[in-house]
Amino acid sequence: MGDIEYSFVNKLASQLVSFFNIGVDILQGAKIPPEAFNQQRGQYYSTVILSKLELMKSLSEEKMLGLVDEDLYVPTKNYVIGEADAAGKCAVVSLFRLKRENYEMLDEEKILYARTLKESVRLLGHLLGFENCRNAKCVMYLTDNVTEVDQKGTKFCDNCLRKVKVWHG
Ligand SMILES: [Zn+2]
Repeated sequence: MGDIEYSFVNKLASQLVSFFNIGVDILQGAKIPPEAFNQQRGQYYSTVILSKLELMKSLSEEKMLGLVDEDLYVPTKNYVIGEADAAGKCAVVSLFRLKRENYEMLDEEKILYARTLKESVRLLGHLLGFENCRNAKCVMYLTDNVTEVDQKGTKFCDNCLRKVKVWHG
């Protein structure tokens, strides 16, 4: 939603296909709903974006993952990297914090992609029935900040992997 490079989205989409063994369609040109913007905070309310995503679905069983470049919040937190609504089957990931923190002279593009992939897998995982994992190295580990995202891996732990296998049949 908004200005996100297509090649970035395309790369992410094709990797998510292999993660979950699902089909992915990319919807281009969606706008971030202006009513999600909170003037006082200078941030977008992620839950409002989720309800907009839900309206964009053509089938109720579809899952939507929104990518935005703007900073997101929920009222109880200073910011969120992303939010998932398991009931509405929608999730949103913001690149805002992922872009700006802890680069330490590493390859920015690669790191931003890895971070976005991890958070996209985690949030999409919630839509597919996965719960937060207690293993801090597992991609399903609940991460609130960029440091925690960097510390966890891109893969499911053995426990979660078993669930993926069950789910794949
Ligand atoms: Zn796990």
